[in-house]
Amino acid sequence: ATLNLDTLTAAFADIETITDPAQVAKLSQDYHTFSPVLVPKLAGKVGDIVVRPANEAEVIKVAATCAKLRIPVTVRGAGTGNYGQCVPMHGGVILDMTKMHEILWVKPAVARVEAGVKLAALDKKAREIGWEMRMAPSTYRTATIGGFIAGGSGGIGSIQYGLLGDRGNLLGLRVVTLEDEPRIIELRGDDVQKVNHAWGINGIITRLELPLAPAYPWAEVIVTFDDFMTAAKFGYALGIADGMMKKLISVFASPIPQYFHALHEYIPQGKHPAFLMVAEPSLEFLPGLVQQYGGEITYQKPAQDAGKGTHLAEFTWNHTTLHARIVDSSITYLQSIFPPDASLQLVEHLYHHFGDEVMMHLEFFRVRGAVIAGALQLVRYTTEERLNEIIRYHEAQGVMIANPHTYIIEDGGRKVIDPEQLKFKEMVDPYGLMNPGKSKVLEFHNNS
Ligand code: FAD
Repeated sequence: ATLNLDTLTAAFADIETITDPAQVAKLSQDYHTFSPVLVPKLAGKVGDIVVRPANEAEVIKVAATCAKLRIPVTVRGAGTGNYGQCVPMHGGVILDMTKMHEILWVKPAVARVEAGVKLAALDKKAREIGWEMRMAPSTYRTATIGGFIAGGSGGIGSIQYGLLGDRGNLLGLRVVTLEDEPRIIELRGDDVQKVNHAWGINGIITRLELPLAPAYPWAEVIVTFDDFMTAAKFGYALGIADGMMKKLISVFASPIPQYFHALHEYIPQGKHPAFLMVAEPSLEFLPGLVQQYGGEITYQKPAQDAGKGTHLAEFTWNHTTLHARIVDSSITYLQSIFPPDASLQLVEHLYHHFGDEVMMHLEFFRVRGAVIAGALQLVRYTTEERLNEIIRYHEAQGVMIANPHTYIIEDGGRKVIDPEQLKFKEMVDPYGLMNPGKSKVLEFHNNS
């Protein structure tokens, strides 16, 4: 509110800006709206101006101006983040990176892109030479690569390649600093962790280098089961079948499928489905495994139709929550990681313990070489106290909760900020202007 908009628009004269209040308010939002706890906390938080740089030179110009005038900068990709990561707590500049969408090059196994490239766009380009992205969130059609690295954690493909933060899943990146004379810093190897999942606090990412995976023809399959735990055990068994290539193993407890309108005909009422993406050469082995667990294949879409009709992936990960909320907006969710355990005992306990209040939605992925059950349980929300009680019960049982109902980075999945990240922060953002208000440690440090 203390900002002089005229000064700003003058400073950014050659760069595209948006000052229309309705547009600025819209571009100050993200998908924290899935959390009834976050909505009131972030209500009314808007930026003063949206700036849309077209290239790195323009980013540097914006950074220099903001450092000089001490204006907060909230970097934004597509704004699909779930924790209010893109919501400016102290106004200032919303730096919209979506105009920087050049795919710089794609070679076998590696690609280099500008931060605003959409995940789906890179995947398409890579497929032209027989490669694909290792993993993508279920928002791959709209989300940017910069936003995924800075704000995401993993997704479709994580059953094969692990999570984003795992060593090797990000090869290099380049940031612009928020100093009086902004610098360009290129990080490679383990140094990328200084910026990985830093919520736009540790520099403005302009370019990224990502490892690619060999592209497989992925078939989409629905298998249904009479019993939830049998479906879960089938999911785990497919997960550890190392000879079978897969990209997605999602398991839903009834009544979750009732929220998937487009898929009703494939999931009889009361059944518990698994949604799969399996490489076509491995498909021949699926019926045997399905039979072993007493399931039934009710839907199969060949890879050649991948671009057409319904995409199963868009019902998984946090899209499950999206579909449920379209039907019943009182539903919210949790994010959990179960300890490695082939018997899935804890899943079974929690499935029964909360009954209909916490509906089980499992996503299998790899963590340090082991197949792990993660969950984005759907919660019938009543009060914040009850939600916290549910979270505490899970934690007491040994389930790791990456709490999606906080906008503070350390209270979510991250828990502790790496000292290296802290050191890097002091260097690239000496005035504490980047996405201020989102970190306890980084905030305190810069204000002290
Ligand atoms: P934004 O929301 O725009 O930004 C996210 C964070 O990154 C912000 O803190 C922002 O400041 C920062 N940032 C963005 N660009 C830059 C940059 N260039 N430099 C520095 N910082 C930057 N996430 C998953 O990991 N897996 C999922 O499967 C998944 N499923 C989802 C499903 C739904 C329905 C929804 C709504 C969200 C889901 N998400 C998921 C969360 C989110 O969609 C993804 O993490 C996505 O990749 C974020 O990209 P974005 O471009 O929208 O980032």
